[in-house]
Amino acid sequence: MFENAKFVIDSREAFEGCIFVALKGERTDGHYYVREALEKGAALAVVERPVDVQKEKLYFVEDTRLFLQELAKQKIVKHEPKIVGITGSNGKTTAKEMIHHCLGEEIAFRNPGNLNTEIGLPLSILNDYRGQPYMILEMAMNKPGDIATLCRIAQPHVSVLLNVGTAHRGVAGGDEQILKGKLEIVENMRENGIAILHNDPRILERVRSRDFVTFGFQSGDYRLTSYVYEGLSTRAWYETPKGVHQLRFSTIFNVGQLVNVAAILAVFDVLDLRVDLTKLESFVPVGGRFRVLLIDEVYVVDDTYNASLESFKVAVETLKKLGERTYAVVGSIKEQGVYSQETHRQLGKILEQLDGVFVYNVDHEIDSMECSKILLKSDEPEVIVTKLKNLLRRKDAVLFKASRAVGMEKVVNLFLGGKAE
Ligand code: ADP
Repeated sequence: MFENAKFVIDSREAFEGCIFVALKGERTDGHYYVREALEKGAALAVVERPVDVQKEKLYFVEDTRLFLQELAKQKIVKHEPKIVGITGSNGKTTAKEMIHHCLGEEIAFRNPGNLNTEIGLPLSILNDYRGQPYMILEMAMNKPGDIATLCRIAQPHVSVLLNVGTAHRGVAGGDEQILKGKLEIVENMRENGIAILHNDPRILERVRSRDFVTFGFQSGDYRLTSYVYEGLSTRAWYETPKGVHQLRFSTIFNVGQLVNVAAILAVFDVLDLRVDLTKLESFVPVGGRFRVLLIDEVYVVDDTYNASLESFKVAVETLKKLGERTYAVVGSIKEQGVYSQETHRQLGKILEQLDGVFVYNVDHEIDSMECSKILLKSDEPEVIVTKLKNLLRRKDAVLFKASRAVGMEKVVNLFLGGKAE
């Protein structure tokens, strides 16, 4: 009955013929919006309790969330795709997009980055999966249990754990909780599945019985051995159990992203896929996710989509390799909860390596950060951009980075003023 149906959970997005699923969220309850969805043309509303609308328009289930998840699961059972599940604190979206770019839409489905949760994942499978033989799925966690739920919907044949860092640790409840939550991707994969694990002792000592291969920087079964930047490209060398690869990427990747490519090479091998690696070389990241531009001979790193200590570390490392003088415009790392002060203290230390730091303190959470390289603190993009432009000269490198909620893209867009393309 629901085959080929399109599902919507936000009544504002309802359209003719769609199926509206009323979910109870933290802030509101979809049951209040059933009428609006039907007025907008929804053919049916899936609900848990009666709503005052035409009865024939309601489809009752015990739990609307489980309903979505079960339906997505059934679709997977029907098509039997090989599933690659990817999790980790940093780099999920880019790794998933790179694999998908290599395999192509005809044979591989992938979930968009913002549809990587217990609701988003089933929604994207139900609405957009067309029966391709491979599924490349980004699996996100807020708290332990989340990834186990995602694995119940789409149980991976190959589970990739990119890294375990400190992103969202305020929400997850601490570093141990993050590790525990992420390991669920290994504990809940298929019986004969293969895990691809970052060569981090914290991870490996917790994974014993399962079949796995490792990847890392100068360590692991699949390893990045070295890399250099040339203009706007990156040359990187890899050693794998199947041989040696030299790749020349048409963009600047930071060392974290380059290490993730070792995991991607492992994915291709364990699935026995012969992939044209020139496709991997031609991948260019989307704006905001460590996209590097060369403007008036200044390297500009737009990394405004999100931030964590680990992603700051690799960004600064790369910046030091790119520029003769290095600067950063930085904002808060969000979702750190009780760890916020400690996180910003550590951030201050990382930024000591630079020649100058501009703090975009629109939300003031970053105000606790101490760093001797701070040149200016301001909540006005114009003030920062004017001072920065006066300072920069050719061969410099500048990084723009903060958690997304900070809105750092305002500053980078003003700085670029249409020069990004
Ligand atoms: P996610 O979907 O996990 O948030 P993205 O692909 O959007 O990942 O990248 C987020 C940030 O993580 C970027 O700043 C990127 O440079 C950084 N990053 C990617 N891989 C690593 C890694 N292995 N270690 C540290 N930072 C990384």
